[in-house]
Amino acid sequence: MVSTSAPPGGRAVVVGAGIGGLAAAVALRRVGWQVDVFERAAALGEVGAAVSIAPNAAKALRGLGLEPALRAAACELDGLESRTRTGKRITGVDAGLLRRRYGGGLYNVHRAALHGILRDALGDGAVHTGRTATGAASGASGASVAFEGPQGPASVDADLVVVADGVHSRLRAGLFPSYPGPSYAGYTIWRGLVPAEAADRIGVPARLSETWGRGARFGCAPIGDGRVYWYAFENAEAGAAHEHRVAALVSRFARWHHPIPALLAATPNEALLRNDVHYLAEPLESFAHGRVALLGDAAHAVTPDIGQGACLAIEDAVVLAAEVSAAAVPAALRSYDAARRPRTQALAGESGRIGRMLMRSNRIATGIRDASAAMAPASLAMKTVADIYDWNPPKPSALAARP
Ligand SMILES: Cc1cc2nc3c(=O)[nH]c(=O)nc-3n(C[C@H](O)[C@H](O)[C@H](O)COP(=O)(O)OP(=O)(O)OC[C@H]3O[C@@H](n4cnc5c(N)ncnc54)[C@H](O)[C@@H]3O)c2cc1C
Repeated sequence: MVSTSAPPGGRAVVVGAGIGGLAAAVALRRVGWQVDVFERAAALGEVGAAVSIAPNAAKALRGLGLEPALRAAACELDGLESRTRTGKRITGVDAGLLRRRYGGGLYNVHRAALHGILRDALGDGAVHTGRTATGAASGASGASVAFEGPQGPASVDADLVVVADGVHSRLRAGLFPSYPGPSYAGYTIWRGLVPAEAADRIGVPARLSETWGRGARFGCAPIGDGRVYWYAFENAEAGAAHEHRVAALVSRFARWHHPIPALLAATPNEALLRNDVHYLAEPLESFAHGRVALLGDAAHAVTPDIGQGACLAIEDAVVLAAEVSAAAVPAALRSYDAARRPRTQALAGESGRIGRMLMRSNRIATGIRDASAAMAPASLAMKTVADIYDWNPPKPSALAARP
């Protein structure tokens, strides 16, 4: 049952219990809102292998009091690097330097663990599974969400609706009917987890290492419980059929440097995931629609090339909570839009550009790519890093409940 008594901060309904929706619910609770989360899945969980949490999102989680839990569950990485298929190092960034400059660590964590941290922070009773939102509306004095639940179609009123239903957002399509929707990035991603015993034998440093090939890339890093996460990007036609077997990847990456073939060979078939990558190529005109705020992939799905989709969703969550704590809705949502849209849309553009550069398949173009990345001055590499990580969450006082 969804409660009907009015809390001091107001009542929010969050649609979608992914990392973005749960982070928003935790942040809104912190500033005194009553929050109900509607999730269409019958059971809560995060599919997928791991997610990297960069300094910007680590600082946002710190603002929610969750950095210790993240540190306990994750592998704190000592850096980022890129290599050629033969293993020659092209670029590298030291995480100690990032921490000193930007005030946050670099982590790699199982998605289910991060999801669990957010769920625990939210407590019981806030998430309502088996409810598929079908539309959101905003009026002069309130907002509402229509949904299909266990008892059939229903609707719920709220002072604020947070749309966090992912890249294929049904609610965004209803609110912005002329928006063209997601685009295919031109590549598919395989992901897997290597069991701890095999990972220990292979030996993978606590670093996010990415290897650039021709029309393909491979990345790996430990996740904090002894297992190692890897991903492989491959150019592919939209909707192409793929042989879903680790053995096929083992032969495709057989001549890449150690530990790539060993990691693939040690991955059980049942740990193999594949997703075609979709993102919002066209910037959305607003993240606010009256009393409805869009957040995470629903607002600005970025390609995974800069590892920031979940990080930006967590940033959105703390900024949204700070804004609704400082001003009334809907004015607060206009401030949220102004704070979030320029940054997220600029990074979405940057991520797409980096992805196109890294997924080149022509021998000459990839040679130029690798040589120019290796010769680029450190200041250039650090500029991209600064654009992403040099972000600070609202002050802790902005994330405390108002009396
Ligand atoms: C291969 C890959 C690797 C990535 N790696 C990283 C990384 O290392 N670091 C990083 O920061 N990001 C990464 N990302 C991006 C990150 O996964 C996403 O940006 C992030 O998970 C988005 O979270 P979200 O909550 O906005 O959306 P989602 O995770 O998509 O959650 C949406 C939720 O809404 C629910 N839902 C959908 N429709 C409805 C409805 N109508 N009613 C109710 N509920 C609904 C869904 O069931 C789901 O639970 C990666 C993405 C990919 C594909």
